[in-house]
Amino acid sequence: MKEKMEFKTETKRLLDMMINSIYTHKEIFLRELISNASDAIDKRHYLSLTDSTKAADQYEILVEANKEERTLTISDNGIGMTKEELVEHLGTIAKSGSKEFLEKIEKEKTPDVDIIGQFGVGFYSAFMVAKEIHVYTKSVLDGKGHVFTSEGLDSYEIEDCAKDDFGTKIVISLRENTEDNQYDEFLEEYQIKELIKKYSDYVRYPIKTWVTKYDEKKEEDKDEEEHTHLELETINSMLPIWKKNKSEVTDEELNTFYKSKFMDYQDPISHIHVNVEGMLTYNALLFIPKKPIYEFNDRNERGLQLYTKGVFILDKCKDLIPEYLRFVKGLVDSADLPLNISREMLQEDRSIKKIATNVEKKILSELGRMLKNDREKYEEFFNDYGINLKFGLYEEYGAKKDSLKDLIILSSLNKDKRITFAEYKETMIEGQKEIYYAVGKDKEAVLKLPQMDLIKNKGYDVLILADDVDEFMLQVLSEYDGVKFKSINQGDLDLIDEEEAKKIDELKETKKDILEDLKKALPECKDVIFSKRLVEAPCCLSAAEGLSFEMERVLAQQHQGHGMKAERILEINPNHAVFQAMEASYEKDKESLNQYAKLLYTQALLMEGILPTDPKEFSNSLCDLMLQALK
Ligand code: ADP
Repeated sequence: MKEKMEFKTETKRLLDMMINSIYTHKEIFLRELISNASDAIDKRHYLSLTDSTKAADQYEILVEANKEERTLTISDNGIGMTKEELVEHLGTIAKSGSKEFLEKIEKEKTPDVDIIGQFGVGFYSAFMVAKEIHVYTKSVLDGKGHVFTSEGLDSYEIEDCAKDDFGTKIVISLRENTEDNQYDEFLEEYQIKELIKKYSDYVRYPIKTWVTKYDEKKEEDKDEEEHTHLELETINSMLPIWKKNKSEVTDEELNTFYKSKFMDYQDPISHIHVNVEGMLTYNALLFIPKKPIYEFNDRNERGLQLYTKGVFILDKCKDLIPEYLRFVKGLVDSADLPLNISREMLQEDRSIKKIATNVEKKILSELGRMLKNDREKYEEFFNDYGINLKFGLYEEYGAKKDSLKDLIILSSLNKDKRITFAEYKETMIEGQKEIYYAVGKDKEAVLKLPQMDLIKNKGYDVLILADDVDEFMLQVLSEYDGVKFKSINQGDLDLIDEEEAKKIDELKETKKDILEDLKKALPECKDVIFSKRLVEAPCCLSAAEGLSFEMERVLAQQHQGHGMKAERILEINPNHAVFQAMEASYEKDKESLNQYAKLLYTQALLMEGILPTDPKEFSNSLCDLMLQALK
């Protein structure tokens, strides 16, 4: 029975784009179809590991041209598709890359013709060359044959059909030639061979096509016409790229492989090719994408592809890579794993654990190398992935801190570029005992903090923490190479000279009363003190050791910390005119202190970026003062 069905809207959009494509490398359709065929064989092979009745004697992909009919046929003896799968996979966009492709086009309005090839838009790319496509398929799962037919417009048809073998045969009826496009070239033997070599050389199954062979001429037939016959020949070398010797693979080959395998349209920033032989034998190919790849289908699950002896096992093996390196794409091919290993067994597998440790080390040492030899590239990397490394350092109670601390770069007050902790340490001035840091979105914001006055004068550099995780990370580290980290607004900074400090300590005694009354007026403060860090500002807020204001904010945002608050200390600049005026008024009228104390405290809060709990009271208080002044 023939059934006619409509494509989904999204699919129609993609098809429309394919049909009207002016993309010049339409040839990539062959790569896409061969890759689908290879995946389908993988699936059948995998299934047959637990059910040998599902196996084929020999797996292969066949590409055949028919010049009279103007058709190109790609057949595989893979798993095939059931009727439901035909609808689900070919009637709807399944491929994450295609969705990303559409979104990119949508975003950029004018489609960049070049990105078609770079994304690889799967089965639908065949409509760049086809006027009609027939997909004959018989699934190993139900043994029923179906044919899917479409011209790539609004709809497709599905009909039962007889098919001898399991697998899928895709027949493309090529479009008529135009001035710009010679579709006939896809029927030429040399062209087919070249395309298979170019795009699908590493496919693990033989890709065969008919190749013309010249019959040997016998002496006596010298004058006769040359005779030829056709022979089915395997065109691809089948050796997976990751199994090749490092020296035999060019960067360009690796980049091409990466793009088609991981559906990226840009070259990766870095690749790592590992061949290990010995007690543990494995190959790994790892890539750092230029920009993080967002996958729509599987919500960005982390993991590397796992192969054993060249046979695909698992798409996202998360046991191979730690969470903080989730942005790394790649694969591991181990020689030591049983083919039918389950996910549960993988978790326990000792060789997987060892490989994972090695893979992590390799990636970190590659990053260290990049930081040392190609700073600019590293900074670019850090823009996108630095946050992952920071979390990696912070998580698991800092278990990874030693391997990660030298990969962190942060902005600083005195430098235009981000610096490492080691670089900070190198620029420390004589007498400077600690590594200072301030929380703020950038240099400008940090410079405005009242607590910066003294440090600036001293010429000390200050690390600028702009990411939420930064301060947590420093807390986990607590020190770098023997030098402690110190927040500019927590604890005693120890920056003023002894004499000055003594003076302030004395003031504490002589002005005990007013300090006591200020404290009484501000029950939310743990303490009110004379500041040893202010020069120009009248007051500032500092936090007692422990939780900082920034950490309080981050925890509250994440609904963690159960309402924990940083302990607030109001620091007052005793040399500031405002304090002196307050004191004079206090001498006359002790009650006046209450209102001024609150105002001062609220200002200190605001400078820290913390909103007062009662803004209305603050406003009323200010209005009172304005009225008095304006009278
Ligand atoms: P992708 O291959 O990236 O998933 P495609 O649009 O090329 O995207 O294919 C969609 C789906 O159709 C595949 O995931 C697969 O399930 C199915 N499919 C395509 N070609 C074949 C084939 N030759 N044999 C079996 N299934 C296939």
